[in-house]
Amino acid sequence: MTPTTGRRIFQVIDGNKKFVGDGFDVTSPMPGPRIRQLSPFLLIDHTGPMPVAPTEAPLGTPPHPHRGFETVTVVYEGHLAHRDTAGHSGTLGPGDVQWMTAGAGLLHEERHEPEFARRGGTLELLQLWVNVPAQDKMAPPRYQNIQAQDIPEVATADGRGRIRVVSGTYEGVAGPAETFSPITLLDVHLPAGTETTISLPADYNVGIYVVKGAITMHGNRPAATKQLVVFGWDLPEVHLTATEDAVLLVLAGAPIEEPLATYGPFVMNTNRELVQAIADFESGGMGQFPEDK
Ligand code: MN
Repeated sequence: MTPTTGRRIFQVIDGNKKFVGDGFDVTSPMPGPRIRQLSPFLLIDHTGPMPVAPTEAPLGTPPHPHRGFETVTVVYEGHLAHRDTAGHSGTLGPGDVQWMTAGAGLLHEERHEPEFARRGGTLELLQLWVNVPAQDKMAPPRYQNIQAQDIPEVATADGRGRIRVVSGTYEGVAGPAETFSPITLLDVHLPAGTETTISLPADYNVGIYVVKGAITMHGNRPAATKQLVVFGWDLPEVHLTATEDAVLLVLAGAPIEEPLATYGPFVMNTNRELVQAIADFESGGMGQFPEDK
């Protein structure tokens, strides 16, 4: 019997559709008119599942800059290739997570992986933008390419569901991703009928994004594919039942209580810092790819 009380459900938000570059058919519930951020989380871009036709010219985004935050990419299906002007590159497949710190600034390129592009197939992935505290915004860029097999998991009580711990600690299991502020990021896979209780610090901001499937919370509150559920701060526990096979991303973290100034790909604390970021990008101070030099 699922308890009917738990962490207060504050909002259930539908995504807006957009296209990113020429390769990512995205649904995005945040930021939007109903929610600017769920600090430290700034953005959720869910690509696909989308068909990719075979091509010799992989689709994606051309080189673009970032400063002052992190991009976190979780791949569910298909393969991505990444490179940046800080000298990092890598490929990601199903179950892999890339945690990239833009820090003081870089340019990067995010494309379909060439062999995947040649074969074609289905692509599904999710990218988060994660804020960092003011003192870390100009940190050196960092690249954590986390392989699926290096992400530990916790089983649900009935043994049927899997809770993969990407960052933070959950039920005593620590995830591999290093973060600048306390963040618990969980990749949750629940077969239909599975019940579980997710318990997180009451003072964390908590959201659950439904990547696929359907759930009820606290016995009778539904959410389904491509909805973001935002919770309050009263109780630690969220009681979940998968009413269909469900994949969820649990976003939890200590809020960063600082001013936020954003402009396109830059996330700073003040407008003056944004003007500086634009100037630094335009003068080539965030790097160049070798073929563009
Ligand atoms: Mn980017």
